Amino acid sequence: MFSKILIANRGEIALRILRACRELGIRTVAVHSTADTDAMYVRLADEAVCIGPPASRDSYLNVAAILSAATITGADAIHPGYGFLSENADFAETVEAHGLTFIGPTAEHIRMMGDKITAKTTMMALGVPLVPGSDGALESLEQAREVAAKVGYPVLIKAAAGGGGRGMKVAPTEADLEEAWSVARTEARAAFGNDEVYLEKYLDKPRHIELQIMADTHGNVVHYGERDCSLQRRHQKLLEEAGSPALTARQRDEIGAIATSALTKLGYRNAGTLEFLYQDGQFCFIEMNTRLQVEHPVTEMVCDVDLVREQIRIAAGEPIGYSQSDIKFSGHAIECRINAEDPQTFMPTPGTITVYHPPGGLGVRIDSALYAGYRVPPYYDSMIAKLIVRAPTRLEAIERMRRALDEFVIEGVKTVIPLHRKILEDPQFRKGDYTIHWLENFVARQQ
Ligand code: ADP
Repeated sequence: MFSKILIANRGEIALRILRACRELGIRTVAVHSTADTDAMYVRLADEAVCIGPPASRDSYLNVAAILSAATITGADAIHPGYGFLSENADFAETVEAHGLTFIGPTAEHIRMMGDKITAKTTMMALGVPLVPGSDGALESLEQAREVAAKVGYPVLIKAAAGGGGRGMKVAPTEADLEEAWSVARTEARAAFGNDEVYLEKYLDKPRHIELQIMADTHGNVVHYGERDCSLQRRHQKLLEEAGSPALTARQRDEIGAIATSALTKLGYRNAGTLEFLYQDGQFCFIEMNTRLQVEHPVTEMVCDVDLVREQIRIAAGEPIGYSQSDIKFSGHAIECRINAEDPQTFMPTPGTITVYHPPGGLGVRIDSALYAGYRVPPYYDSMIAKLIVRAPTRLEAIERMRRALDEFVIEGVKTVIPLHRKILEDPQFRKGDYTIHWLENFVARQQ
């Protein structure tokens, strides 16, 4: 087992990783920008190293500074968290070249899944169902027309290097295809320096359902069931549930078996998430994330597992140590992302937290690095806390979440808590009757 881990991240996820390390008896090194000197994770870590000024590219994305910090402190592994360098194959490679362990998949698999076209062709070959569309990159507008005619409109042009919903354009009819094609390519070139695009049938009412997988270095692969992340605004998830109100246990087992078999054949290692669109009883793979996800706690709550602990154990070479049938799903969990944003305009609201009182009680979990007096810096993501609840049934989880949100006091900055309260009261949401478009429509109705 490792004796010291450097956490190459900030905020709630840095604290989350630190907690897992503590319980495993592993010492921790926090790295931070000058804007995060007073952060909770920095205070709680055994050692802390300042790696640069506030801008992410100079600090949390500064590979040389992070590796120097690891060398100086004598860390033997690096956990990248999510975002920042977590899906940067070059970083994973550099870490290993320096004789340190990267807590995650191989650079080869990160690179493979980072290119969505390669990800899709690889998954197709491994027997995973896809959204109908082009077999690989589109060579020309002509070819786009042919594929679109075959799969039927509306279609979506997507960037191979895409992320965060950028470089993605819908063409409702053939008349819109040329514009979607050129806008998607221009956006992709500007955002990712790569204008390769592909085409998918645009599904009109899918749910976003993803599967949590873990693989060790001894050929064992398990899944921990699904998360329903359909509630999104501008492709950003806001509220997640485990399990999905739309799936039966049997459907979960079926897609779980397909996914674990694919990753076994691939020789994948560590944590991964397969994202699917689910419509009319069909799963269509869209992409794979080769890291821990923001919403991993809902899975932890229903499976009673510590996924970060599992990541660390696996990176240290330990076998998973249990089989698929040992993983039991119990009850229902919901996560609300608490962003420091105006609940109506979604403008970020950085500032000082004057009063902070987190909720508690049975089945309530808070993943947050907040405290009274903390200044939310303007430079990073606006998510300041995750409130997670678990209860025996979905409706009880909803009631527990409403109760916890009512107890949650955050003063000094505006948050999206009022929006979460409204969602939880909505009859359609309570029935579990929603698709990926539901939240955008709901927000529009509130304004
Ligand atoms: P990114 O990596 O940019 O987030 P994804 O491929 O994960 O891109 O897609 C992001 C979101 O866009 C999905 O969660 C879904 O809401 C929507 N989306 C993606 N592909 C399709 C599709 N073929 N039909 C309908 N919606 C889609």
